[in-house]
Amino acid sequence: MGMGATMAAIVPSFIRQRQKLHDKYSGKKLNVALCGLGTYANILADGFADAQYCRLAGIVTGTPAKAVAWKQKHAIPDQNIYNYQNFDTIVNNKDIDLVYVVLPNSMHKEYVIRAARAGKHVITEKPMANSASDCAEMIKACQDAHVQLAVGYRLHYEPYNMEMKRLGQEKVFGAVRLVEASLGYRVDDANQWRLHKALSGGGPLMNLGVYCLQFSRYVIGEEPVSVTAQFGPNTNPQIFSEVETSITWQLNFPGGAVSNCSSSYNCNVDRVYASAENGFFEMSPAISYGPFRGRTSKAELHFPDINQQTAQLDGIAKLLLENKPLPAHISGEEGWKDMRVIDAIYASAATGRKIVL
Ligand code: NDP
Repeated sequence: MGMGATMAAIVPSFIRQRQKLHDKYSGKKLNVALCGLGTYANILADGFADAQYCRLAGIVTGTPAKAVAWKQKHAIPDQNIYNYQNFDTIVNNKDIDLVYVVLPNSMHKEYVIRAARAGKHVITEKPMANSASDCAEMIKACQDAHVQLAVGYRLHYEPYNMEMKRLGQEKVFGAVRLVEASLGYRVDDANQWRLHKALSGGGPLMNLGVYCLQFSRYVIGEEPVSVTAQFGPNTNPQIFSEVETSITWQLNFPGGAVSNCSSSYNCNVDRVYASAENGFFEMSPAISYGPFRGRTSKAELHFPDINQQTAQLDGIAKLLLENKPLPAHISGEEGWKDMRVIDAIYASAATGRKIVL
């Protein structure tokens, strides 16, 4: 009964909202260039297929064969195809409004700053950069250039995760006392950049733990005040010579809530849980691309399975077309807040000491 009522309320209003926006913009779309054509750029490219407020208009790649293949597949005009050397000439291209940086983590900073200086709005993938100080430089570059900066936090467009956030922040089951969040998958391929610290900035904490940290922060609705952390055992020293195999950390929040999280490259796990004064809510799978499953201590949760990339791209594009500020929860400042805690998690794991934020 509760579920039926929720679906009836959500689906028609979602469709009505899209129709209203479509009427308003009558076909006008934000032109986006993807920078770095790897695995996730391909998933984003699929996301453009159903997008109403943006289009894939350009590419930036270091691989000439990809330029040819993407040009054909996505009908990208020659003048909107860049490599890493000539990228700055995008300043002269009025057909590109936004650059979406989908490069290895350590390259986010350089390409966000170069895109901003070329006068383009920017989305950068998570984790925003390799350190909080790099994030601060990226934020300043975008402010100085009067362009907007977003982090690719796709779960802010995903209905189950946003329900978790609502249940926590609106204290539907009372104040949240405990959060547990874990994300991991097995990594066996030694050749990928994620295992090289200069490109990744770190191991599963950078790649996966950032989602667990996000979940803790938005469900509790506060900023952590202290951190303790421990590296897990190195189960394959030949592969994990530069970054951690796994890591566990604990956050203390000012209202008394605690969060216990882990991220790993040696086991498969994808779950979030929150215990509040009068009940609990949880999801598993929770963070991947879905389909998701979630429940509370009262009922199963049921929301539409959506394409998160389409929802994220359209959500951002719509606001930029309206010349409105992007919401704080996907902003560069939000990425900085996460990186500040990640810096502290690594410092605590390395020293064995509690870090006060
Ligand atoms: P890939 O390795 O698949 O792709 C990265 C691309 O970056 C390469 O294909 C290449 O594109 C370009 N590149 C430029 N220089 C280098 C270099 N030195 N080493 C490797 N690649 C280089 O990575 P992903 O697509 O999986 O990840 C990219 C970013 O997206 C990361 O920050 C990651 O955290 C994030 N991500 C986010 C996800 C999400 O759900 N939000 C999911 C997956 C990743 P080219 O050949 O065109 O130059």
